[in-house]
Amino acid sequence: MSTETVLYLAHPEADGALSRHSLEALAVAQSAAATLGATLVVGLFGADVRAAANAVGACGARRFLAVQGPEFATPRYATDTAAVEALARAAEATVIVGAHTSRLARVAAGAALRLSGCVDTHAGSVTAGADGLAVTRWFYKQRIEGDVRRSQRPWIVLVDPGAAEAYAKTAANVASEIVTVAATNNRTQTVGLREPGAGEQTIRPEAELLFVAGAGWTRRQKDGQPHTEEAERLILDFVRASRASLGSTKSLTDISGEGQAVLHCLSHLNQVGQTGSTPRHAKGLSTCCHGEEPHVVGWRFIRERRAVNLDPNCGWARGKADVLYVADAFAVMRELNRLLAAQ
Ligand SMILES: Cc1cc2nc3c(=O)[nH]c(=O)nc-3n(C[C@H](O)[C@H](O)[C@H](O)COP(=O)(O)OP(=O)(O)OC[C@H]3O[C@@H](n4cnc5c(N)ncnc54)[C@H](O)[C@@H]3O)c2cc1C
Repeated sequence: MSTETVLYLAHPEADGALSRHSLEALAVAQSAAATLGATLVVGLFGADVRAAANAVGACGARRFLAVQGPEFATPRYATDTAAVEALARAAEATVIVGAHTSRLARVAAGAALRLSGCVDTHAGSVTAGADGLAVTRWFYKQRIEGDVRRSQRPWIVLVDPGAAEAYAKTAANVASEIVTVAATNNRTQTVGLREPGAGEQTIRPEAELLFVAGAGWTRRQKDGQPHTEEAERLILDFVRASRASLGSTKSLTDISGEGQAVLHCLSHLNQVGQTGSTPRHAKGLSTCCHGEEPHVVGWRFIRERRAVNLDPNCGWARGKADVLYVADAFAVMRELNRLLAAQ
């Protein structure tokens, strides 16, 4: 019998439910506990965690622990760190697995210090074998994969989104053990939420499809003129109709800083690549983008890739896409939007 106890740590979202990312982390915790022969314990914190506990009630955990109350409703370093510490101590956890959410990432290191433990974030996988637990994570912008093993306990591991299939919610009502948290410093108050002023939300981590727009959308076309307004309309119509997530290249987002014609729907947050993000979607469609290595490295986790480019010798043609359509992206997207509207 293993001497490890795996604590699955999570917080519900504002609607009281666990996010898909949190449910992926539960699948990782379950599989680590099963392979190690360890006890699995669920630890939840938030305003009211009953619905979240019931949603994962059949996950095979031996205990369900809860820290709840209005002071845990919104993220706050002092209360969240105290909650994580209290849950870890109550569970006598040696391995703590959670999703790499901004809320957990903010407190994981502080909680590890209080527990005299250690922490690894952005984990891509957690595997258990004869020689114990191993966590993989990427270094140097997804170019080197490290395999981390530690003897120090407790070991907090925060798992990146897309690292596992989410726990398929089998619900069962459970009675959680309430864990009390010693008085904490509640001076920091959340006074409201302010969203980015970019208008429409175009980054959708849970989308099936990543749609990438490159700098070609702002370039002079065959009539010698750029058609930026039409480009923006075609792109937005497509992402609205398909519910795709919108990515861009560095060249395109940089153009806005150089005072050239821009696509207003894009910011640096959309940039995919070595100095941008590495999103995880099942499929990707790249348009008016050359497919250069510093950009394509951000496609590492996109399994099925297609690209539209006028240039048959662009980077996508060199083994970087499954299918390259040598075509005018304006014409392709006009037709695609027409077909989507007709559905
Ligand atoms: C250290 C470093 C880090 C970098 N990090 C990143 C990064 O994180 N992300 C990133 O994206 N880049 C990054 N870059 C930049 C990268 O190397 C490329 O310069 C950039 O990705 C090019 O952007 P693009 O393909 O949109 O533009 P371009 O290279 O200008 O390509 C535009 C393409 O549009 C096509 N096109 C034009 N009109 C049409 C049309 N009507 N229909 C179809 N196709 C059309 C053209 O044929 C062309 O291939 C980095 C570079 C360095 C040195």
